Amino acid sequence: LSGSMYRALQQMKNATVIDEKVLDGCLNEISRALLQADVNFQMVKNMSQNIKKIVNLDKLAAGHDKRKIIQKAIFDELCKMLDTGKPSFVPKKGKPSVVMFVGLQGSGKTTSCTKYAYYHQKKGWKPALVCADTFRAGAFDQLKQNATKAKIPFYGSYEDSDPVNIAKQGVEKFRKENFDLVIIDTSGRHQQEASLFEEMRQLAEATKPDLVIFVMDSSIGQAAFSQAQAFNREVPVGAVIVTKTEGSAKGGGVLSAVAATKSPVIFLGTGEHVHEFEVFDVKPFVSRLLGMGDMSGFMNKIHEVMPVEQQPEMLQKLSEGCFTLRMMYDHFQNLISMGPLSQVYSMLPGAGAADLMPKGREQESLAKIKRYMTIMDSMANKELDSTDPKIMNESRIMRVARGSGRSVQDVKDMLDEYKRTAKMVGKTMKGLKIPKNGESSR
Ligand code: GDP
Ligand code: MG
Repeated sequence: LSGSMYRALQQMKNATVIDEKVLDGCLNEISRALLQADVNFQMVKNMSQNIKKIVNLDKLAAGHDKRKIIQKAIFDELCKMLDTGKPSFVPKKGKPSVVMFVGLQGSGKTTSCTKYAYYHQKKGWKPALVCADTFRAGAFDQLKQNATKAKIPFYGSYEDSDPVNIAKQGVEKFRKENFDLVIIDTSGRHQQEASLFEEMRQLAEATKPDLVIFVMDSSIGQAAFSQAQAFNREVPVGAVIVTKTEGSAKGGGVLSAVAATKSPVIFLGTGEHVHEFEVFDVKPFVSRLLGMGDMSGFMNKIHEVMPVEQQPEMLQKLSEGCFTLRMMYDHFQNLISMGPLSQVYSMLPGAGAADLMPKGREQESLAKIKRYMTIMDSMANKELDSTDPKIMNESRIMRVARGSGRSVQDVKDMLDEYKRTAKMVGKTMKGLKIPKNGESSR
């Protein structure tokens, strides 16, 4: 999606005059991209009409930057679609809350339950998990395994086949033991079935959850709307978690789920592991959708993967638009030792990032990064610390190629990579406000 969105916006940028025709073309292009991303047709149509109303080309006085106004209107409109204005129930530390997860089989409930518990545990909560899935064989074992790994207390039964009974007992037990966040994992079905909804109704009736979270697989596409709506009809959904977002270019389901439940997305699942879980933020998400890149997410990732003592200096330099080969080297090194590379790079805008880390080809890319580092090992300090890319003339390139045992082409490839990244940094990081030492930028 972001690719075609990006192209649509780029097209508008390149046009010499912005008139009705260019705007229509751009909106058509964006509508097509949104439909491809499984955004509901009516929503796309409404958005398009709203933007046209907002932009109103005739009335815009000369001197206004029409491109900026259009781009902002699109951005704002998408944000509005995701921002329900209604904050979901937020559990309070120390105050007992019950949170129930619902969703179809395989949507990622059990995985997300554990992630949700783990996230809160790290922030000082006392969470516990209750397995109310007696439908699928092995459900309790799965939850037990996840919970044990994350060191989270759990409750379930191999004998009792009544999910309502188990849920009631589990909630009671953990309440008595002063847990402040009791999370109920429920069963699913492959399809929306009456028996499933009946079970959810009974569970909610018995445990009186403070919050029901609807869990949705990001790849379900157009089905998102009806699925979310169906669950919401039976149990009042207060928040949405979208899973398996790491490989998906389809953001549309997210928009549909929000529209159907009128509830905000609170987290995104970005992998199978317990820490692969991100707080959902509307603006960075829309930026990413529009291919502008997610700079605040990128900043947070830098915080995560960079040794703390290196951060202020590096961030300061980045915000001045300064990027040296040595910075790239350090960055590579940190990424290799600690980081899920693809996650960091998927947040960068433009082509450079996608080139370096194509999805599903991480191994290959890792080899490339190591090759680049070998080349940089043969460079002089002066070359590594220069902010002038032109310092690497032909004779220096030859020397480095010889020294590192790589071909001249390899050295040039590395330098191209560097130039692309430096350019991107210059464009997007320059003037960015730097969060204080160690603080998150969110
Ligand atoms: P449930 O049937 O709704 O409880 O779904 P599960 O939690 O058992 O998840 C189904 C499958 O999806 C499992 O293999 C999970 O590891 C996987 N899964 C869940 N969330 C994510 C995610 O965010 N990313 C990826 N890649 N896999 C996920
Ligand atoms: Mg499950």
